[in-house]
Amino acid sequence: AAVIVAIDGPSGTGKSSTSKAVAAKLGLSYLDTGAQYRAITWWMLNNGVDVNDPSAVATAAAKPVIVSGTDPLAPAITVDAVDVSGPIRTQEVTSAVSAVSAVPEVRTLITDLQRVIATSAGNGIVVEGRDIGTTVLPDADIKIFLTASPEARAARRSGELRGKVPVDVAATREALVKRDAADAGRKTSPLAKADDAVEVDTTDLTLDQVIECVVTLIEG
Ligand code: C5P
Repeated sequence: AAVIVAIDGPSGTGKSSTSKAVAAKLGLSYLDTGAQYRAITWWMLNNGVDVNDPSAVATAAAKPVIVSGTDPLAPAITVDAVDVSGPIRTQEVTSAVSAVSAVPEVRTLITDLQRVIATSAGNGIVVEGRDIGTTVLPDADIKIFLTASPEARAARRSGELRGKVPVDVAATREALVKRDAADAGRKTSPLAKADDAVEVDTTDLTLDQVIECVVTLIEG
């Protein structure tokens, strides 16, 4: 059967770069589940929905049509047929996404979408997120949980943002820690390591070393 790989962890651990590179290397599809939560958040913000009102978010949750591309070399995402790959990475969306993704109706919809995509990828798939190994795909063949120190994560995230926006590493670290706490503290499907996941601490590893490690885990 097609291999299903779940890669979870907080942001700044190299999760996206690793997942895409591993999928490309092994000829697997790729699904960025964070992008889906960002896309629904982007739609809420653009349609006047109060993202801090869970019942308003729940009522609107089924309205946007989200379609995820699964090519690791060009992972596009559309909302109502509009490519939102760029707009979902803004600070505005990043600040609002934890509140939107904590709403159970949002999680149910997006989780169903993720399961359909994962089980229909005939060539196998790498799915990255926060709750893939625990909730979305508990029967995944390989589960990996990436971690890194808050300092390493803030440095990486600042590196990604540099050149796009003015960067304050201390503020970046604070925003990361706050988002993790919200993601880990929510009632429905919190950020968590599955019991049968392999934990990889990426603090002192280069991206190439993390990719190598994950490929080895998949290939056995
Ligand atoms: O991975 P990324 O930073 O793009 O994820 C954005 C947000 O989406 C996370 O902070 C989290 O609130 C939410 N998310 C989630 N479950 C996932 C993936 C992302 O709740 N599987």
